[in-house]
Amino acid sequence: TYGTSVSPKVQKDKLIGGLLAPGFDEQSCLSRYKSALYRKESPHMPSTYLLERLREHEFLQKKCGPHTEAYKEAVEQLKSGQDTKVGDCNYLVWVAYSGLGNRILTITSAFLYAILTNRVLLVDGDKGTADLFCEPFPDTSWLLPPDFTIKQFKNFSSGSPESYGNMLKTGVVRPDGSSKGPSPAFLYLHLAHDYDAHDKLFFCENNQQYLQKIPWLILRSDNYFVPSLFLIPAYQAELIRLFPQKDAVFHHLGRYLFHPTNVVWGLITRYYDSYLAKADEKLGIQIRVFDTEPGPFQHVLDQVLACTLKEKLLPDINAQQPIVSTGNVRSKVILITSLNSGYYETIKNMYWEHPTMNGEIISFHQPSHEEHQNSDRKMHNIKAWAEIYLLSLSDVMITSAWSTFGYVAQGLSGLKTWLMFKPENRTSPDPPCQQVMSMEPCFHAPPFYDAELGREQIQESLSRMYNIVKI
Ligand code: GDP
Repeated sequence: TYGTSVSPKVQKDKLIGGLLAPGFDEQSCLSRYKSALYRKESPHMPSTYLLERLREHEFLQKKCGPHTEAYKEAVEQLKSGQDTKVGDCNYLVWVAYSGLGNRILTITSAFLYAILTNRVLLVDGDKGTADLFCEPFPDTSWLLPPDFTIKQFKNFSSGSPESYGNMLKTGVVRPDGSSKGPSPAFLYLHLAHDYDAHDKLFFCENNQQYLQKIPWLILRSDNYFVPSLFLIPAYQAELIRLFPQKDAVFHHLGRYLFHPTNVVWGLITRYYDSYLAKADEKLGIQIRVFDTEPGPFQHVLDQVLACTLKEKLLPDINAQQPIVSTGNVRSKVILITSLNSGYYETIKNMYWEHPTMNGEIISFHQPSHEEHQNSDRKMHNIKAWAEIYLLSLSDVMITSAWSTFGYVAQGLSGLKTWLMFKPENRTSPDPPCQQVMSMEPCFHAPPFYDAELGREQIQESLSRMYNIVKI
């Protein structure tokens, strides 16, 4: 019958393998159920246990979310600072910090921690979080209400008296996780790149036991700290059940959590439909340069071209003949993202001035060139998110080392991208790039100090986890 029911296949795709809950209002967030029309079906299926836990977590978020009685009670307790026993509703507050890629990775890490510890995740809507992402949980909001009691929470740092690491350092809490006095109503967890040995004790089992007694945790990080959660014995069994495929954590949780708002979805779909949709193959190239000068740099251009040629991601040009006619009408679109337009201009010209060796038709597109990172500007963030998402719709992708912007595109796509090594001394590295072994983002500042495991074992476990020899 026509028009009366949606086929199970379409229904399944719409909920991306059961990852998404049905029943959201479609118009207020078109991307949520339409992503399946743009993204190929993932070869990585979420475990049924993950789906179960997500549904349970949605229930918790709704039961304890802002404007519920439970939330009001928890806030009252937080205000009084007394009788701070954990109840059914305990919270993890995520503080907006760093660039968009970093923020997406830390929300994901925080979310996984919230699932493991049965906490409600509330995100600080600053830096455009509220403008960029739809609500991920049904019938509630994950945004921290702007009148949140602890006004100074954005200013906490490693040395603040409220910081857990600092409390360990000053002896308010003992290293084994026991404390002298009554436990506080809230704690600040500093898990940013500059965290010290005391902050890192977060990753030790005893300390996790202590933290379970604290109703409110406030977290600031710019790291994808998921790999280290796998090393905490108390969470291991649960994590393995949730993610039998260990390198698909971000792939699943990222596609579960991050749905572009309609404004961003407009930018994504207009660009995709205009420039990318019709090609036989889509290659995404993310060029992120960590240099004090803006560029463009010759060594970066050389690296991009060396990578595309060596790995046969782009055909070579024919500098001898004005026209190559092979009858090959395959078309390829190249989506380049970069803060700078120089690389795109040069490569596009090269393929305009010369034919390709194999006659392939290639077009190049770069949605924006913002010149500088400006993570506080609304349109800048909207474009960054649109570009990350567009990249993630590629069939093949080249990304830049050490870039969380690239990790997010890679993780959402589920592809093993070609990673361009970080140039040293403004020299093009040789080899220019290599295919990654895992689609998971990297944890840039893992804790090597660990009271229980020791450095050797952590290194070994991480290597085993990602099936790599050297970190
Ligand atoms: P990372 O610094 O590469 O790890 O990525 P982040 O996303 O955390 O921070 C870099 C920020 O710079 C992005 O969020 C954007 O604001 C901006 N940016 C970097 N590269 C691009 C790009 O190719 N396109 C756009 N639109 N913005 C970019």
